[in-house]
Amino acid sequence: REIFGALAAQPADALLALIEAFRSDVRVNKIDVGVGVYRDSEGRTPVLRAVKEAERRLVERQASKGYLGPEGDIGYFDALKPIIFGPVDLGDRLCGLQTPGGTGALRLAAELIARARPGARILVGNPTWPNHPPILKSAGLTVVGYDHFDVATQRLTFSRMLDALSEAVPGDVALLHGCCHNPTGADFDAGQWTAIATLLRDRGVLPLIDLAYQGLGDGLEEDATGTRLVLDIVGEGLVAYSCDKNFGLYRERVGALYALSVSAEQARIVQSNLLSLTRANWSMPPDHGAAIVRVILEDAGLSFDWLAELAEMRGRIQQIRDLLAAADPMLAPLARQHGMFSTLPLSAAQVARLREERGLYMPSSGRINLAGLTPDTVAPFVDALASLR
Ligand code: PLP
Repeated sequence: REIFGALAAQPADALLALIEAFRSDVRVNKIDVGVGVYRDSEGRTPVLRAVKEAERRLVERQASKGYLGPEGDIGYFDALKPIIFGPVDLGDRLCGLQTPGGTGALRLAAELIARARPGARILVGNPTWPNHPPILKSAGLTVVGYDHFDVATQRLTFSRMLDALSEAVPGDVALLHGCCHNPTGADFDAGQWTAIATLLRDRGVLPLIDLAYQGLGDGLEEDATGTRLVLDIVGEGLVAYSCDKNFGLYRERVGALYALSVSAEQARIVQSNLLSLTRANWSMPPDHGAAIVRVILEDAGLSFDWLAELAEMRGRIQQIRDLLAAADPMLAPLARQHGMFSTLPLSAAQVARLREERGLYMPSSGRINLAGLTPDTVAPFVDALASLR
């Protein structure tokens, strides 16, 4: 009674409530753009062909389920490096380990920062992925928000962002979305990345890059531009990576945390801290999903298949973006945004009207998942939005 009785009820996850409401809606023409995962044109979130084949091979060949250790599958961790960091060899300055999803990587990154600097400030642009602030705060960081996007005009408020970063002090951290910003789709171009990175370097601010959607924006290489520029210019930083979206492995929880230090000596100390934080959290990450990614990346044929399937996902998202932009001038900015998400300038009352009158489901923030639409549902979607005017 002393423990459970002292707890206060927490609000239910709004997205889960939305999923339930959609499920029980009997209207045949209902549309769900609230979903958080990729859907194909039949509305499915399929297991990729390359993943199925890798799983078959694992079942046949895996000889042991013995523990691997807190760093997880090192083959997986190493195989991702050229995809994320490109041809440069960062050598012993780069360390890190496999984590349970991008979420685990973010949590571990936050705990590492908090261990080095209890209560450290982390600058986070608004809006951001709603889980960012609770993950960072739970680890003991102080979240400092700043506006970086104007929903009404669908434009980055880049100078305001630079102003916010200019006020940072040495020892602060800046959280950046590597690509396919969730929930706005608004990414930086190379010039903007360079300006951000230069500022971070000059102010002594450590970048924490959340790279959860590589390959779902402009392409695998293109989507790494920001990450590479920032690490090159700043010379140190953290990258919280997820394979859950670009390999369609969501429930397998496949992630990694990379840390670039200024020296190999410092990297060894960082790594020892990552290992000890991991042991105190989940001890070791789950193996299966990372093993799948490793099997795919170690095999040229499977890699080729995966890249083709990734290109298909990317192409479908861009097709929907282009169709929306062509159908309604108000939606034109969506064509130059990236990834699965955009945020429409709608009030909570308008979102509720769309749900009640049109069977169109999205969270009250107005965030939509483009992959929730198909070429056939673009017209009714645009029509529903126009009914609000
Ligand atoms: N970062 C962002 C911006 C995300 O949108 C997500 C998932 O939705 C994650 C990280 C975490 O992904 P994972 O499912 O691998 O934990």
